[in-house]
Amino acid sequence: MKALVYHGPGKKSLDERPMPTLIAPTDAIVRMTRTTICGTDLHILKGDVPSCEPGRVLGHEGVGVIEEVGAAVSTLKAGDRVLISCISSCGRCDYCRRAMYSHCTTGGWILGNRIDGTQAEYVRIPHAETSLYPIPAGADEEALVMLSDILPTGFECGVLNGKVQPGSTVAIVGAGPIGLAALLTAQLYSPAQIVMIDLDPNRLEVASRFGATACIDSGRVDPVDAVLALTGQIGVDCAIEAVGVPATFELCEALVAPGGVIANVGVHGVKADLHLDKLWDRNISITTRLVDTISTPMLLKTVSAGRIDPTRLITHRFQLEDMAGAYDTFSRAAETHALKVIIEVS
Ligand SMILES: [Zn+2]
Ligand SMILES: [Zn+2]
Repeated sequence: MKALVYHGPGKKSLDERPMPTLIAPTDAIVRMTRTTICGTDLHILKGDVPSCEPGRVLGHEGVGVIEEVGAAVSTLKAGDRVLISCISSCGRCDYCRRAMYSHCTTGGWILGNRIDGTQAEYVRIPHAETSLYPIPAGADEEALVMLSDILPTGFECGVLNGKVQPGSTVAIVGAGPIGLAALLTAQLYSPAQIVMIDLDPNRLEVASRFGATACIDSGRVDPVDAVLALTGQIGVDCAIEAVGVPATFELCEALVAPGGVIANVGVHGVKADLHLDKLWDRNISITTRLVDTISTPMLLKTVSAGRIDPTRLITHRFQLEDMAGAYDTFSRAAETHALKVIIEVS
């Protein structure tokens, strides 16, 4: 089968690989129909993720059709169309019993990281019963690709952790796919204001169409002054960090109102400063999280009912044969205006 293989920092290629086979009785083999590329895949290619070793098939998102299941899998069968969660969970360990699937002792984020992933014609999914979701009849499969990772990530790490509430004020720093996913799902709670902050005018334009009440180009105006002006000089109840660099985390520290929450979503590679001298008496909270995908069943219903349309995040389509083109377009997002690219596998 064809698969996109990581060969060390800066190196990848579409290679011929052997078909995956069942290893544990709880596994399933899925024939991929649609997959996508994540910002995390670019982190791996930069060499930022040491757990992902050369030779690994990348990808942790997508939908497909079950080809084969292990002897212990009773709730899924060959031919079932399924959504693949970016987080594998056994459903039994101490962390899974506490709904922290991302810390599952035999799962978590392993797909396209510690085990071969979804940018391939076939993938082996461990803990299949608790890591795959049957696709409802009639659902838009491309929309569901957005539910493997970015929608639950924006929702759980940003909106839920950030305690977005009716009437509250929200700032989202970073209008990439994850920031936009937080913007789409924050609206389930009817906040009074959602302010998007980014350096890319195209992404801010998209955010405006997606329901942001204000957009701030932080390359042109001081985002702290602008947010204070929009909030009666108070700041925001919820500052969502969706970039993952020190400057944007520290910006959230400057934006959060007394009693507010800084909800970190970004993947940070270096330390950021915590300005406790300014924050110690402000009753704020800081939250961190890797997505647990506990909200996937709810988001499946919400998307199926048309309450959220994540297909709006899809900007480009490629065939698996043109993975090089897909990575090139996705990695030059400022020029190509790419948000999410869909890769048609079969
Ligand atoms: Zn991802
Ligand atoms: Zn577990």
